[in-house]
Amino acid sequence: MERGVNIPQSYRLVRRDARTDRTVVRLRGGATFGGDELAICAGPCGVESAEQLEAAARAVAAAGANVLRGGAYKPRTSPYSFQGLGEEALKMLREAGDRHNLSVVTEVMDPRDVERVARYADMLQIGARNMQNFPLLREVGMSPMPVLLKRGLSATVQEWLLAAEYVLLGGNENVVLCERGVRSFDVATRNLLDISVVPLLEEMTHLPVVVDPSHAVGIARLVTPIAVASVAAGAHGLLVEVHPDPPNALSDGAQSLDFAQFERLMHRLGAAAQLAGRRLPQRNAAPDGAARPQRDPAAKGPSDESDSKPNSAVRSSTSGVKLA
Ligand code: PEP
Ligand code: MN
Repeated sequence: MERGVNIPQSYRLVRRDARTDRTVVRLRGGATFGGDELAICAGPCGVESAEQLEAAARAVAAAGANVLRGGAYKPRTSPYSFQGLGEEALKMLREAGDRHNLSVVTEVMDPRDVERVARYADMLQIGARNMQNFPLLREVGMSPMPVLLKRGLSATVQEWLLAAEYVLLGGNENVVLCERGVRSFDVATRNLLDISVVPLLEEMTHLPVVVDPSHAVGIARLVTPIAVASVAAGAHGLLVEVHPDPPNALSDGAQSLDFAQFERLMHRLGAAAQLAGRRLPQRNAAPDGAARPQRDPAAKGPSDESDSKPNSAVRSSTSGVKLA
């Protein structure tokens, strides 16, 4: 391949003009990132128990979310902090997701865990601390599973896009960028949300962009206005931490919404979505009143563990959704 010797930091595959259409990332289960419908990912920072996760999944589904988040492998600053429940948590996520018709996104930290996480989840999260973990980027690049790539703790937009370039270069085009705030001089909030990247990235890349207001601000009462602003600015979705009992959460309790707060957030989001020409996730109502998944009938179930390859039913698409 020709080298961009005059532009040493060039990115080729992620740039806006590398495609005619914008990328729409579709998760098994029906959620889409990059189309007219928002993807609302919600759930606890970490999976702590089956009961905690079940309560959270039920509540976020009832409020209108379409993707369940929850960490099984937690990147903690201190080795003495809660590290996550590992594969047990992956099983709980899959079960809770299926019970409540939610797709599942969860973090993978170690390249050796990519296949395992992909057996249970519908989307692989690369955390801020791993945005430049190049072996991990290469590994998820070889997986067909959609990737949520968080912005690094103090990563420039160029570093972030080049990290995404690694994943696309491996063959995986299902990448969603997630702004989650960057470090600043000011400790008044946990991080400084760079909301300007939402319209900026829309110019620079064909990849969808979502915002994580929870890690951006670190303070639960600020999450809703920032979520609303992000969607109004054009974000294709949100990643929000929701916990049944935030004061007793094992991680990130201060920024986690309780169920009532999340419900209010979802109510306020409708108008912002409309402003941006988008809509909240449409969840199918089932006869018994519970939402039903929009499963791809061709999709292999997560219980198909005899197949050592990650679920291959997820498709990339640049399906012609045009955003002005
Ligand atoms: C998380 O989503 O729980 C998380 C650890 O986020 P980040 O990598 O953005 O800090
Ligand atoms: Mn967290």
